[in-house]
Amino acid sequence: MTGFPAIDGRRLLARLDAFAAIGATPAGGVNRPALSEADRAARALLADLGAARGFSLFQDAAANLFLRRAGADDRRPPFLIGSHLDSQPTGGRFDGALGTLAALEVLETLEDRGIVTAGPVELVAWTNEEGSRFAPGAFGSQSAAAGALPAGWPETVGSDGARLGDELAATLAALPQAAMRPLGGPFAGYLELHIEQGPLLEREGALIGVVEGIQGTRWLEVAIEGQVAHAGTTPLADRRDAMAAAAAVITRLQTTVMPADADARLTVGRLTIAPGAVNVIPGEVAFSIDLRHPSGAEIDRLEAEITALAARIAAAGGCRASVRRSMDVAPARFDRRLVGIVEGAAERRGFASRRLFSGAFHDALFMARLGPAAMVFVPCRAGLSHNEAEYVEPHQAIAGAQVLCDATLEAVAASVAA
Ligand SMILES: [Zn+2]
Repeated sequence: MTGFPAIDGRRLLARLDAFAAIGATPAGGVNRPALSEADRAARALLADLGAARGFSLFQDAAANLFLRRAGADDRRPPFLIGSHLDSQPTGGRFDGALGTLAALEVLETLEDRGIVTAGPVELVAWTNEEGSRFAPGAFGSQSAAAGALPAGWPETVGSDGARLGDELAATLAALPQAAMRPLGGPFAGYLELHIEQGPLLEREGALIGVVEGIQGTRWLEVAIEGQVAHAGTTPLADRRDAMAAAAAVITRLQTTVMPADADARLTVGRLTIAPGAVNVIPGEVAFSIDLRHPSGAEIDRLEAEITALAARIAAAGGCRASVRRSMDVAPARFDRRLVGIVEGAAERRGFASRRLFSGAFHDALFMARLGPAAMVFVPCRAGLSHNEAEYVEPHQAIAGAQVLCDATLEAVAASVAA
């Protein structure tokens, strides 16, 4: 191939503005819950923009939306690029939208230049990545990776009382021009551009994040059982204070796990105390642990350490501890070849880049189970996301889309017909 075409940065920025107007909040953010009227409006606009360029339109049973640009050999599995269009209730205008609209920009750039790719390239807008209206998130990509919708999904009730089955059916019906296709693969590869949602790139002055994978997440529920007793009459030696034991466990974890390993994340975000009266020694304290690490083996080791520590500290205070898993998502390692292609694309453009692991979930986590996948990050101001003040500089958005375009072309081994 003779060169990599420049994307149309102004067109990309105009598209970001147009989609930010759908579900716009007064504070400059976006409220576009999955499968809502606003989400359907965004999908309709995307479908119209794609149809205007002659891209074919598909949906699957999870209402994932695809725009397909044909390749020289259209029987080859498609190379997928995209992200999601739904948002948090007080979300920003770039989370998901940037990756989806950058993918549209890639397809349009190929079309503008008459570039013939060996196989088809498809934009995908995954359904319900955020999970804030219908939990859990990444509904579309998880269903695609599993090749089936989750059991009992239609009866899932949303935060607004809506039924998932009804809203999904209405969303599919709103785009009758989209042909239905089966869930899942095969696909030749998957690339997703996303905002970092963290502070590393900005802090280090890097324009492009070359994402090596997504850290795993495990949720634990720790319950400490002691004995309810009178706060005034029970001397120290007779107390089996579940709160004192829980506090000791939490303090110990906070002062050991993360200080010892910069890649580890441990958060105690919820605590319940029973009976919960001012003058009663708590008989039962339960707390959550959100544990994250790029290494699955390390997550296993940390869980074992937490279990042993809770048992030891609880026993010392006359209590009993139990630890139970409530959620477990294994880490993803992205495809080494695709990661290298992203890094090379940034380097060719002279964009400062840095390798990193994603701290947040993305649809790419699930796509990496189906085939080669990787991600491109761009910085967001102060690492702020899931916030109406979320902001990406225009040159950062354009650089990310350019790297997505260059990497896509290289990955699909394009042949240029200028
Ligand atoms: Zn997102």
